[in-house]
This record gives sequence, C-alpha cells and structure tokens, in this order.
Amino acid sequence: MSLEEKLIHNRFVFSRKPVMIYWEMTQACDLACKHCRAEAIPDRHPLELTTDEGKKLLSQLREFGDPSPHLVMTGGDALKRPDLFELIEYGVSIGLKISVAPSATNHLTPDVIKRFKDLGVLSLSLSLDGSTKEKHDEFRGVDGVYDMTIRAAEEIKKAGIPLQVNTLVSKETYDDIPAIFEVVKDFAVVRWSLFFLIQVGRGKVLNQITPEEAENLLIWLYEKSKEVKFAIATTEAPHYRRVAFERMIKSGMSIEEILKTPIGRGFGIRDGNGVMFISHIGDIYPSGFLPITAGNVRKDHPVEVYRNSKIFRRLRDYNELKGKCGRCEYRAICGGARSRAFAATGDPFESDPLCEYEP
Ligand code: SF4
Repeated sequence: MSLEEKLIHNRFVFSRKPVMIYWEMTQACDLACKHCRAEAIPDRHPLELTTDEGKKLLSQLREFGDPSPHLVMTGGDALKRPDLFELIEYGVSIGLKISVAPSATNHLTPDVIKRFKDLGVLSLSLSLDGSTKEKHDEFRGVDGVYDMTIRAAEEIKKAGIPLQVNTLVSKETYDDIPAIFEVVKDFAVVRWSLFFLIQVGRGKVLNQITPEEAENLLIWLYEKSKEVKFAIATTEAPHYRRVAFERMIKSGMSIEEILKTPIGRGFGIRDGNGVMFISHIGDIYPSGFLPITAGNVRKDHPVEVYRNSKIFRRLRDYNELKGKCGRCEYRAICGGARSRAFAATGDPFESDPLCEYEP
C-alpha cells in the first residue's frame, strides 16, 4: 500500500470508529498530581455514570463493530469505583478490548493486579514523572508513590500483563527525561508513552517546553527507540511522526516498511480522529485535553456523536487546519495537537505552537 492509499484508508477507518476510547470513570483519586487533567478530588462526583449507565455505555461502544476499539478505563483512579471489576467483566464479555490506567496507590494490590489478569484486561499503565523517589513523589503530591509504582510494576510483570509507562514532558521534567528512560528500561514495559503537556486542568500551573526543546527531544526519542525492544510513543505530540518519518526515509526504509512500524500504524491519529474521550459524567469530547463537548451519553449515542457531530467531523478534515499546520505537507500523518492549539488560541484548528517545523 502506498502512503497515499494508507492515508485515504485511515481517513475512512477513523471516520467510522476511533482506535482509542478513554473513559474517565471517576475523578476521585488519592493522589494530587501537579498536572492532573481531571483535577482529581478525593471523593466520587455524585453525578458520575452509574453502574447501569456504565454497562449501557459499554454496549453502545461495542456497536462501533469489529474489531473493537481499544477502551482505556481511566480516572482519577478507576479503582475508586467499587463496580470497576463488574464493568470490566461485562465489557470483556461483550467483546471489548479493555485496558486500565490505575493510580499507584494502596488500592493497587497484588490481588487486584491478579484480578485484572483473570478478567482479561489487555494492559495496565502506570505513570512515572521523576527518575527518583524525591522527584516523582514531589510531582505526584504524595510521599511513597514512587515505591508503590516500582512495586506495582513488578507485580504487573509477575502477573504477565503488558505494562505501559506514561511520562509527562514539561519544563519541570525535561532535564530528567534521560534518567527516567533509564528507570523505564528496567520496568519490562511494552510501551513508553510521553505526554507533552497541554495546559488544561491542573496542568495550567506547569510550564511548556520550547519548540526547539520539543524537536530535540523527539529526535532523541527516535534514536532511543532504535536501541530498545519496547515501543516509544508520544501523546499530544503528533509531530513525532514527522521526525520519525523523515529519518526512516533517510535511512532507506520503504514506505511499506514504515507503515508496518508502530509509528506508521498511527499515522493520522489525533484528537477526534481515531480518539474519543468520555468524562465521568458522560460528556463526550474529541480527547481528554480538548474541552469542546460534542454530546452526553445520557442522551446521545456515542457512535452517532463520533461519526456525525460537527466538531468530530471538522477535526477529521485536515483541510480545516489553519496556519502552518494547514499548509504542511505532513498534515495528513501529523496534523498537530488540536488540544494545544485550542489551549493556546481558543481555536482547535490553529497551528500547534509546540512544532518547530516550517512547511
Ligand atoms: S506544522 Fe503542524 S502538521 Fe506540520 S509537522 Fe508541525 S504540527 Fe505537524
């Protein structure tokens, strides 16, 4: 398949269903992370989706058809919901592919991890935002979280569940990223995902790196990705695909080979285009970092909203992009982080200000 054919194919597939759906089951969490998108609080919100509403949502998401999109149950801390296992069991029984992103707290015990395994959870993810106990705990706002994260990673490995580690990239963590990489290498991860800060929620108190720092980090990540067996991915930095694509072409890889890599398989995925987010009270968004509501699952069908709501449709059309993202030759495989454009300008179709590239 040529690059053009692949991109046309992806456009069609993403117009029908997302690859990734994130369900923020609750905002409740015992941690107080500096960058928390959910602005987590200790207790559950009274208007959270109920167990029955959760099951109805899962059934509706299954209507996206085969193969099932990948659903990530997140929070807050999904373990703050007493019905978490019941909902996973139901989702798996109807054929959904489910992963869980729990917080590293005392709730994440070896028994709980084993139960995830028994229920057929596909993968678990943990956050690591500092290479040392001091740095990570300071960031997460609670002492002892680093040790709990290390322990949980070991238990997850023992249980045989694939582990993803998520790391925030901001001014505050930038210099520590190489040291975090060394820790992640010892974790037996299948994927290291670096989330480039979007200044929403509590993330507004953190600082953005410069476009030059972002470019240097993306190049460094690409070089490191060749040294390790696990995948290295970015969240809200789709220009990693440009950086990787340029280097793969330069190294002599064919388009066919590039399209088979994890990066190539993700060409075009961005907020609203292959991604959907459902909040704790059922609001439907193009991503967890783009606060433009397209509907609510209490009254709207999520499949219908994803396929036909105006904001999702516009976000999927790269001809809507403005500024340099709009005239960029990489817009179909990248397209820039729409959340960051919105956070910076109030317009989700503007250029991603973190990208250094001049088309
Ligand atoms: S200018 Fe926009 S579309 Fe082009 S690589 Fe940068 S972020 Fe991506």
